[in-house]
Amino acid sequence: MIESVEPMLQWAQDMWSYPRSITGPGVRQTIGYLKTLIPGLEMHSILSGTKVFDWTIPPEYFVVEAFVETMDGRRVIDYADNYLHLVGYSEPVETVITKEKLESHLFSDPSKPNAIPYITSYYKDRWGFCLTHNQRENLTDEKYRVRIDSCKFTGEMNYADIVIPGKTDKEVLISTYICHPMMANDGLSGIVVSAALARWVRSMKHRRYTYRFVFVPETIGSIVYLHRNLDHMKRNTVAGYVITCCGDGAEHISVIEPRIPGTLSDRAAMSILENCNYYKYDYSQRGADERQYCWPGIDLPVSGITRSKYGEYNEYHTSLDNLDIIYQEDLERTLEFMKKCVTLIEENKTYKTVVMCEPFLRKHDMYPDTSPNTVPDVLNIMAYCDGNHDTIAIAKTLQMDPIEVAFCLSNLASKGLIE
Ligand code: ZN
Repeated sequence: MIESVEPMLQWAQDMWSYPRSITGPGVRQTIGYLKTLIPGLEMHSILSGTKVFDWTIPPEYFVVEAFVETMDGRRVIDYADNYLHLVGYSEPVETVITKEKLESHLFSDPSKPNAIPYITSYYKDRWGFCLTHNQRENLTDEKYRVRIDSCKFTGEMNYADIVIPGKTDKEVLISTYICHPMMANDGLSGIVVSAALARWVRSMKHRRYTYRFVFVPETIGSIVYLHRNLDHMKRNTVAGYVITCCGDGAEHISVIEPRIPGTLSDRAAMSILENCNYYKYDYSQRGADERQYCWPGIDLPVSGITRSKYGEYNEYHTSLDNLDIIYQEDLERTLEFMKKCVTLIEENKTYKTVVMCEPFLRKHDMYPDTSPNTVPDVLNIMAYCDGNHDTIAIAKTLQMDPIEVAFCLSNLASKGLIE
């Protein structure tokens, strides 16, 4: 199994400047890079204009250049400096405009005067520029020249997946989104942790479950994915996570529970977090693709995993969410947490003891001579091997680390004391 350190921060740096959106070259570059990390990752496409449930795939989009400049040619807002400067999916424009008219196309946030806000307009034709409020206050000329050389055309939308087979067809879903341009925690952190997790899952010697890793443009991408794979996923998915906003320095993990709580993935995550700092949110506080995966009628058992939850950290959806606010160490902490979730899902089983009354532990070489006055953990664990308590339930009852309980159970099973 891969236990060496995966250079996730480096991967994020490498993908930083791809011009991501819900379609276009930045999505394909991102998938292309991920293919080098996860050989076998497959890119899929769907044509612009295709109907998917209540939605229609938007045209493909790309930007050649976009800027606002003074009449003497000094660029005051430039897409080349930061992709967030352009409202995503802006219409092409070539014009000279008064400052007064330009104002209605400008977006800034006075409460965060150094931040460029992230704004998109995928489904409404308009154009606009986002800028820091400080930048905006320096626009004092009467007229400006505006140029947006962008193109919307009937093309395709892309996404990628890989299915890593296990002993059963039952699946664990891991999903993250690949549409956010130039933001590190919201976007890249989920991508790199998911990629590292895929590499680790593939290196596992034995897999009970099949693993499906999905990289999609947020919302429309998961809707397409469900439209195309729903029957199979409904039949087979036993657990799932949407991973995002998971590289910042927050001490805690945050879990967004599925609409119907108590799923295997939800229980596994909460069991791992039992004795840690964590935040838990219910489905009404959802925000990423768990919105689609848990929608009534879709009903997949998918939880959201973040460190600082989207919408709840200061840099969220602005240019301040950059590579300075994610850390290799925190990406690793999230990856470790996800590995534990996967391990627990793999190991979570329900056993029944085959011994009537307590077993004579000394005979089985399981008596703890060092502390004979305490009830050995092993007896406590066996006492709940009644065919009704699974690993997670036993760990919860005994307030024990679920991974330790899982290893103890597999040890007991190998000695033939439980089945
Ligand atoms: Zn976002």
